[in-house]
This record gives sequence, C-alpha cells and structure tokens, in this order.
Amino acid sequence: MYEDERKELVKILYKKGIKDEEVLKAIFTVERHKFVSPGLIHLAYKDSALPIGKGQTISQPYTVAFMTEKACLRKGQKVLEIGTGSGYQAAILTAMGVKVYTIERNHDLYRDVQKIFNELKIRVHSRCGDGTIGLNEFAPYDAILVTASGPKVPESLKKQIAVGGRMIIPVGSRTEQALHVISRNSETDFTDEIVPDFLFVPLIGRNGWEN
Ligand code: SAM
Repeated sequence: MYEDERKELVKILYKKGIKDEEVLKAIFTVERHKFVSPGLIHLAYKDSALPIGKGQTISQPYTVAFMTEKACLRKGQKVLEIGTGSGYQAAILTAMGVKVYTIERNHDLYRDVQKIFNELKIRVHSRCGDGTIGLNEFAPYDAILVTASGPKVPESLKKQIAVGGRMIIPVGSRTEQALHVISRNSETDFTDEIVPDFLFVPLIGRNGWEN
C-alpha cells in the first residue's frame, strides 16, 4: 500500500541531497502511514513533520533521512535514539539492520509506540525515561540520534559514543537550532560539524530544557 507515494518520497529526498542507498531503501520500505494518526494518513508521504499528540511530532522524512545518513551506520551496529515519538525513526534504523535502543520520556507516547512496534513486529529495546542521561548499561553506541533539541550537548551522552562513532543532536534556543554531528575520534578527541536550519521539539530533562 502507498508504494507509489513512497517512491515519490524517495525521489524528493534524493533531490534534496540524500544519497545513501541504504537510507533511501529504508525510506521506501518503512510504511510511514502506520506511524501517523488515522486522520493524517493522506499526509503521511509529504515531506513534513506531523502532530502525533502530546504536543509532539513525527519528524520530517528529510530530517530522519539526513540524521540517519550522517550517522554512517552499517548492519549490526548499535544505535541509541533519544525521543522515540511515533517510532518512525526507530523503524528506519531497524530496517537498515541496526540494533536500536530508544528512549521516550512521555508515558502516553511510550505506551502507544509499544503497540505499533508489536503490531509491526519491530524489534527494538525501548525505555520510558529521561534520555538526556542516556542508557549507560548498553553503552557505547556506534551512533546516538537525538530527535529533540536542548540548550547544550549533554556530556552524559558524549561519554556513551563509541570511539569511531558519532552523535547527531540538535542544539540551540527554543526557536533557532542547528544540528551538531559530533564524531568521537579517540577517548578524548571529539570533532563537531554544525549544520544550520533545523527545527525540533524541546529536549526536556536533567541535561536538557526544564519542563
Ligand atoms: N524520532 C521520533 C519519530 O520518529 O517520530 C521523533 C519524535 S519528536 C520530534 C521528539 C520526541 O522526543 C518526543 O516524543 C518527545 O516526547 C521526546 N523527548 C523529549 N525530551 C526527551 C527526553 N529527555 N528523553 C526522551 N525523550 C524525550
């Protein structure tokens, strides 16, 4: 169902600069309409964020694809996602053969997304809680994807990136943000590529914004 729409979405993302074939394949495979509210299914394959309730959104497909591409993941690697939301980003990562750990702070969204993961047989390790402190028991991660924006890069998360891995995280004010691609080159050496012009919902927690 909606195969033509997904093909069209892949073309749009390719034109916008997404070139990683594994990412584009996952965008084609994952049925985004299963992650949006029933009343918004007709908009599921537009390249836009959509409300999922509780003041939160399913991210824009371009943002999901861009962050996933920047994570440079290979099959079998391990990713921590902060902000499960609708579950779409986690589903894209799973479709790429990546092992996914994901944390959502909102209890209602956490409960709803478990149903979706179960229905679609998406195997992820899912937690309800404050993702700004990470998930130390399974660290380090080949990539950490933060899908909500805080005022600074949490040190707690930086420590959980594997050497050779990276973290993609939006940082800024509540209204203006940039995406940081932080690569961990050694135990102590990190580089930070900054990509402007992204907009995310707030990252709320101990190392994020206050509620
Ligand atoms: N990855 C999601 C998707 O594919 O639908 C995007 C969800 S939305 C843009 C960001 C999510 O981050 C929201 O569901 C919000 O509740 C959650 N969030 C905000 N602060 C958080 C925190 N400290 N820990 C975990 N989740 C958080």
